[in-house]
Amino acid sequence: MAVSMDAMGLQKSRSRSDTPTLKSVCDETGAVSAEEVILFRALYANEESWMKITKTDEEWRELLTPAQYRVARKGGTEGAFSGDYYDLKDAGIYRCVCCGNALFSSETKFDSGTGWPSFWAPIRDDSVRYEDDYKLLVRRTEVRCMECDAHLGHVFDDGPAPTGRRYCLNSVALQFEAQD
Ligand SMILES: [Zn+2]
Repeated sequence: MAVSMDAMGLQKSRSRSDTPTLKSVCDETGAVSAEEVILFRALYANEESWMKITKTDEEWRELLTPAQYRVARKGGTEGAFSGDYYDLKDAGIYRCVCCGNALFSSETKFDSGTGWPSFWAPIRDDSVRYEDDYKLLVRRTEVRCMECDAHLGHVFDDGPAPTGRRYCLNSVALQFEAQD
């Protein structure tokens, strides 16, 4: 997937001349994907934060329920078929439970049979970001909120057309907003 620097907001976020450019990163990796650009941006987050919402661990703990905190801030996973949204078919937007960022639309939701709400695409390419996760020893790709870094779930390559991707999310990390 080709992305222009402007489109990803990189131009803005690059201010110092001694840090790698998108071109140097691409020369090294040999390809540009949205994930790589997002990772690149995350690596230099300390210069000009892509994360718009930052709170301390204590602040999150006060704001969230224990279940929300355990999953969204500590990378936990809710039990299959235990969440509020795996079987929900209503039209609407799924927002981040921590910050309200719009993450997924009911238009890309599908029944994966896994017991977790599943989508084949985020609502915007830049509404989420990705990280390698080796917690289960095999490499998985973690999905996080672009605005506040909440853990949302994982994305796999066994989803339906048109993307072939399966965003497997935790209901408790999401807040559903019904739309007409
Ligand atoms: Zn968020």
